[in-house]
Amino acid sequence: MTGTELLEIFKKTGGYITGSHIVYTSGKHGEAYLNKDAIYPHTNEISQVCFEIAKRYKEKEIEVVAAPALGGIILSQWTAYHLSKMTGKEVLGIYTEKTPDKNQVFTRGYGKLVYGKKVLVVEDITTTGGSVIKVISSVKSAEGIVIGVCVLANRDPENINSNTIGVPFQSITEIKLNAWEEKECPLCKKGIPINTQVGKGKEYLSNKKT
Ligand SMILES: [Zn+2]
Repeated sequence: MTGTELLEIFKKTGGYITGSHIVYTSGKHGEAYLNKDAIYPHTNEISQVCFEIAKRYKEKEIEVVAAPALGGIILSQWTAYHLSKMTGKEVLGIYTEKTPDKNQVFTRGYGKLVYGKKVLVVEDITTTGGSVIKVISSVKSAEGIVIGVCVLANRDPENINSNTIGVPFQSITEIKLNAWEEKECPLCKKGIPINTQVGKGKEYLSNKKT
């Protein structure tokens, strides 16, 4: 699966909207929107994507796939499933959970499953890389060995890569979203209607009226 094919899956499931006029949570405007939650209900597509991840790591003797909850649970399960099929050995799929102080830790006894094991970390979209770094640190605390990190889409390749993450890192695709301050937004200037279905478009328009 190429990056372009993954983007087609994102688009088909409504996970990647382009050619629109979006208001982001930051208040900035842009023409594209990523909604990773839209892809998860489509199990066939998720299976295909995780098959691609599994293919890339099948020679690496991965024993456990770990990911940050919630979306990552689905990715770790499917990736571990395909790796198990490809290698003929059981590969476990586990996840970390967010603590009140926003860390990502193993609960439910999953830390024990990582001890001394070769671990692949997976994630859907990296914006800052924060979640992935926290999962890596939890694997290391549990004395597991992180073999690599694979994400579906990396939004910031300059700042999120093997050097900054500290372990071999790869993404299936890279997506950069341009964002402008409202005053400088070329879409506002052209009078393109705001998308009220996703992002903060609805709130933005109702604030404008008052
Ligand atoms: Zn605008």
